[in-house]
Amino acid sequence: MKALVYQGPGSIAWQEKPAPGIQKPTDAIVKIETTTICGTDLHILKGDVPTVESGRILGHEGVGVVTEVGEAVTEISVGDRVIVSCISACGKCSYCLEGVYSHCLADEGASGIGWILGHLIDGTQAEYVRVPFAETSLHQAPEGVAAEEAAMISDILPTGHEIGIRYGAVEPGDVIAVIGAGPVGLAAITTASLYGPSRVVAIDIDANRVEQAKRFGASDGIVSSDSDWKEQVLALTDGLGVDVAIEAVGVPATWDMCLAIVRPGGHVANVGVHGKPVSFPLETAWIQNLTITTGLVNTDTSRMLIKLLAQGRLDAGGFISHRFSLEDIMSAYDTFGRAAETKALKVILT
Ligand code: NAD
Ligand code: ZN
Repeated sequence: MKALVYQGPGSIAWQEKPAPGIQKPTDAIVKIETTTICGTDLHILKGDVPTVESGRILGHEGVGVVTEVGEAVTEISVGDRVIVSCISACGKCSYCLEGVYSHCLADEGASGIGWILGHLIDGTQAEYVRVPFAETSLHQAPEGVAAEEAAMISDILPTGHEIGIRYGAVEPGDVIAVIGAGPVGLAAITTASLYGPSRVVAIDIDANRVEQAKRFGASDGIVSSDSDWKEQVLALTDGLGVDVAIEAVGVPATWDMCLAIVRPGGHVANVGVHGKPVSFPLETAWIQNLTITTGLVNTDTSRMLIKLLAQGRLDAGGFISHRFSLEDIMSAYDTFGRAAETKALKVILT
């Protein structure tokens, strides 16, 4: 089969690889119908994720059709159209039972961070993918929802919802600020609406991204290159600060911005992946009674999000900016990598 293979920092290739087969009785093989590229793939390509080895097939989002199942798989059948979760988890270990699928203890999660597809095991940017623990890690794609929309359930919607909105403990009437209106920040913005906030303020350095955020339900937008961005936030909150600040970028500056705009007693939910340590003024958090949360997506709300998607209550189609065929994946990476120029949000590969 053909697959997108990481070849070390700065290098990927679309090349021939052996098609995957069933290795364990809990596996399934999925023929990929639709996959996408994530910001994390660009981090890997840059060499920022040293645990990804050369030769790895990238990609952790996708929808496809099951072509083979292991003998222990009874709830998923050959021919089912499924959403592939970005994290494969056994569903049975102590951490999985607590909903922390990202730290599944099954022996195959060798690094202690579970089975992220396209990371420690081969991923979805290929014609076929092997999915361990198929019954927990594959979801039936809802009837009537396009595959490209269902693929937004693999990673970005649960990430924005779980680590942004849920960890941020968003409540009805809250004013929330989301810093970073990339796909993950936009996923937080769109799922925030499920909790009835009074304002959702999108903040991004890129004015185009701020505009996009309004389509996803942001009530206000602020371009953070404006020197008075903080005054603008305070003006929207009668000078009090926001109830919940969500960091969806992954750089020190935006972490500091969250601390600058959150009200005393508020929440800061960090979603962004910071490749390096950020400074953390514990005394500020103490004196301001702040709750700080962060974490790796668990995908424990994926089933709930699928129901909402099937009911038309989540706009997954709004994320899609470009479409390519799978064999044009190198052009898709180029378009996605130049998002500021190309205005790429999610690129779809079929
Ligand atoms: P992205 O790069 O597509 O979007 C980031 C956005 O931040 C862009 O719109 C960019 O214009 C904006 N931005 C950059 N610098 C800024 C600054 N200084 N001030 C304000 N805005 C700025 O990324 P994405 O795919 O949306 O992902 C966002 C983050 O979430 C990344 O760090 C990603 O690795 C992380 N992530 C975390 C998890 C998790 O499990 N916690 C899962 C997936 C992704
Ligand atoms: Zn587990």
